[in-house]
Amino acid sequence: MNLVILGMPGAGKGTQSAFISKFFDIPHISTGDMLRHAIQEKTKVGLEAESYINAGHFVPDDVILAIMAERLAEDDCKKGFLLDGFPRNLVQAEELDLMLKKHNLKIDHAINLSLEQSEVVKRLTSRRVCKKCASVYNVELLGSDICPKCGGEIIIRDDDKEEVIISRLKVYTEQTEPLVKYFSDKNILFEVDASVPIDDVWNEIKKMLEK
Ligand code: AMP
Repeated sequence: MNLVILGMPGAGKGTQSAFISKFFDIPHISTGDMLRHAIQEKTKVGLEAESYINAGHFVPDDVILAIMAERLAEDDCKKGFLLDGFPRNLVQAEELDLMLKKHNLKIDHAINLSLEQSEVVKRLTSRRVCKKCASVYNVELLGSDICPKCGGEIIIRDDDKEEVIISRLKVYTEQTEPLVKYFSDKNILFEVDASVPIDDVWNEIKKMLEK
């Protein structure tokens, strides 16, 4: 099963992707996680991506397409995969289709987590992450700056700062939202209300994918 998960930043793509990946035993491929890892490791891709990410802009398509072509060629993708944060615009979506076609593959379903913009801003400004293990928390529920899972330092992602969030949402509306129509036109789009509790969102997705 080859899947894509769409939704505004903060809609819960990372959380739901972890459930999907575990339940269906397919790799969760997040371009955002790959880029953050590259930044931490100071690789060539990381050094190139950092300024774009911190400004709330997209990393150039050629950089993203190169890392994705490499990732999708890895063995674990043979049993299926879940793409989170990619494709992010129409160019990437079309290039992905071409990449998959070469291997006689296609995207089977695209899941769109829909959420009001006001709720997105509220979620992102209260999001905190562990610098060490990347666990995600809500600042109002956490009450400490130490990760309860690994003891790592809890930080605000640079791109979750308010001025960057505004830029990310603008870029999302202009570039990523058209993908909803792109996948809907292929009759593979599944809309999910992401404003309900996490478990309810997951049950909805699971029910659809098990069909
Ligand atoms: P995410 O964790 O998916 O919200 O991604 C964090 C940031 O990484 C985004 O705001 C972009 O700057 C960059 N990024 C992630 N995926 C892509 C992509 N497919 N194309 C361009 N930039 C991306």
